[in-house]
Amino acid sequence: MSNELGDKGLLLVVSSPSGAGKTTLCHRLMAEYPEVMFSVSYTTRPIRRGEKDGVDYHFVDNTTFDQMVDKGEFAEWANVHGNKYGTTVAAVREALEGGRHVLFDIDYQGARQLKARFEREAVLVFVLPPSLEVLEERLRKRATDAPEAIERRLINAQEEFNVLKQYGLYQYLIVNDDLPRAYDRLRAIYVASLAAIDRMGTVAEELIRQTERRHPQP
Ligand code: ADP
Ligand code: 5GP
Repeated sequence: MSNELGDKGLLLVVSSPSGAGKTTLCHRLMAEYPEVMFSVSYTTRPIRRGEKDGVDYHFVDNTTFDQMVDKGEFAEWANVHGNKYGTTVAAVREALEGGRHVLFDIDYQGARQLKARFEREAVLVFVLPPSLEVLEERLRKRATDAPEAIERRLINAQEEFNVLKQYGLYQYLIVNDDLPRAYDRLRAIYVASLAAIDRMGTVAEELIRQTERRHPQP
């Protein structure tokens, strides 16, 4: 399905330290805007309880993932918390060519690669927890990861905060303290990005053509 203006697809990239709430926020956006598609990544991480292959991720083994890397099938890929994750070129191109809006739940390394490759189409959002204590509490309460995995995710959060400071890569920051307030921000970013002037090129050009047909320049 193409978007309402028949214009370019948007790549909405949402990153955060694990447990800050990006999955929760992304699911809300997709529930409110069914035209937003989720980019299903490939990963070597073991499947979690409640996850579905092909829906949450395409779960593959290390050899398959490495073969895909060698064949240049990924638009971006990275090693995150000891597992490999990647987004295929085919998935991104298909979405852009169909004028669809796609949501990417990927880490900062992947966000950087997508921004380099699709500079105009990619909008980068970073979700922060209100504090490290809250982040730890959310990870423990979510209870989807073993204690060592939680520890690793908390250590990696420090690196992610530092990356945020150094690179100025992200265009938007959302502090996910109060969920409805954080979601309002994500929705506002999405809606504003759709109206960004450089995405409206073909609409403007069509109006110019219509005026020229009606009032030809001498
Ligand atoms: P991520 O995708 O960033 O790893 P999740 O969306 O899985 O994070 O959220 C981590 C946990 O925190 C989940 O159990 C989720 O229900 C909870 N959570 C998310 N946002 C909030 C919030 N604003 N307040 C309290 N709990 C939250
Ligand atoms: P989880 O294992 O909790 O689902 O995800 C762990 C981390 O991997 C999250 O920060 C998530 O954003 C990131 N991630 C998921 N898919 C991709 C991907 O395709 N590429 C990259 N670079 N990171 C990803």
